[in-house]
Amino acid sequence: RAKESGRNQLQFYEAAMHSRIAERTMIEAELRHALARDQLRLHYQPKVDLRTGAVVGMEALLRWQHPTLGMVSPARFIGVAEETGLIVEIGRWVTRTACFQNMAWQQAGLTPLRVAVNVSARQFRDPGLRREVQAALSDSGLDPRYLELELTESLVMHNVDGAVAVVKELKRMGIALSIDDFGTGYSSLAYLKLFPVDYLKIDQSFVREMLTEPKVAAIVRSVIALGQSLGFKVIAEGVETEAQLAYLRRHQCDDMQGYLFSKPLPADGFGELLRSERGLAPAPGETPADQQTLLL
Ligand code: C2E
Ligand code: MG
Ligand code: MG
Ligand code: MG
Repeated sequence: RAKESGRNQLQFYEAAMHSRIAERTMIEAELRHALARDQLRLHYQPKVDLRTGAVVGMEALLRWQHPTLGMVSPARFIGVAEETGLIVEIGRWVTRTACFQNMAWQQAGLTPLRVAVNVSARQFRDPGLRREVQAALSDSGLDPRYLELELTESLVMHNVDGAVAVVKELKRMGIALSIDDFGTGYSSLAYLKLFPVDYLKIDQSFVREMLTEPKVAAIVRSVIALGQSLGFKVIAEGVETEAQLAYLRRHQCDDMQGYLFSKPLPADGFGELLRSERGLAPAPGETPADQQTLLL
């Protein structure tokens, strides 16, 4: 029986492995055509100032709408795009699309906001990155201060000297930078001071657990204090509840992003949200921002 079940298990693993390989192969083959077939879109998620309640920026998040696979989540294809190198071309499209869209909102008379784009390790190492970002800015006409690049912690900590040099060049161009998923990789605090970035983004795994795990809460409070004392602004990702919002406000986190305020929206939906000037209610004791703010 043990032998039998062992064999069944092995067959199960083999089948699972084959289907994983098959899925990967299929995703890879399909992804090669995704751009040319116009299957990629960007969704935009607002970033909100916790003190004033105003929308202060947005993150562009990639979506792949495939005719038969349906909506494929970035978790399933970003890794494949990285390994095959397709991410370089896709990333270029993402940066350009985000710049042009942001410029279109500004030209439509909306308050200028910063758009953040995620940059993967492969793109970051690509020697053409700076030139391509520059081209996206000049072709769209977007002022560099309205573009932000999000770099993950593991990306910048992997080769610190190289990363510091690239980050400094990008900063000199006038672009904002943030360290994404902060706390999930390993960061040497000594290295953190070398990066002239604007934001630390507290990873959503901490936000999710901070109200039930006292040690996680301690980490969140420490990251807020550490980040701010090093001159960064701190933003919390994945805020889903009023209680999380209240906790982050109490501990003076700067900004937040999460389903509580809004899921990532297609460009037209995001434009409507901006036009409605919907914000969070300001923190108690704060004067409302000079725009209409509504309770959630
Ligand atoms: P990320 O950059 O850390 O983005 C945040 C993720 O959290 C997004 O998932 C977002 O939809 C999700 N999120 C936001 N608020 C909440 C919330 O309140 N609760 C929960 N549970 N989730 C929330 P998404 O869009 O699936 O993207 C996943 C990851 O894929 C991103 O993580 C980023 O690493 C990568 N990614 C997405 N778009 C791009 C892109 O254009 N280029 C690159 N290189 N990577 C991208
Ligand atoms: Mg991000
Ligand atoms: Mg993140
Ligand atoms: Mg994340």
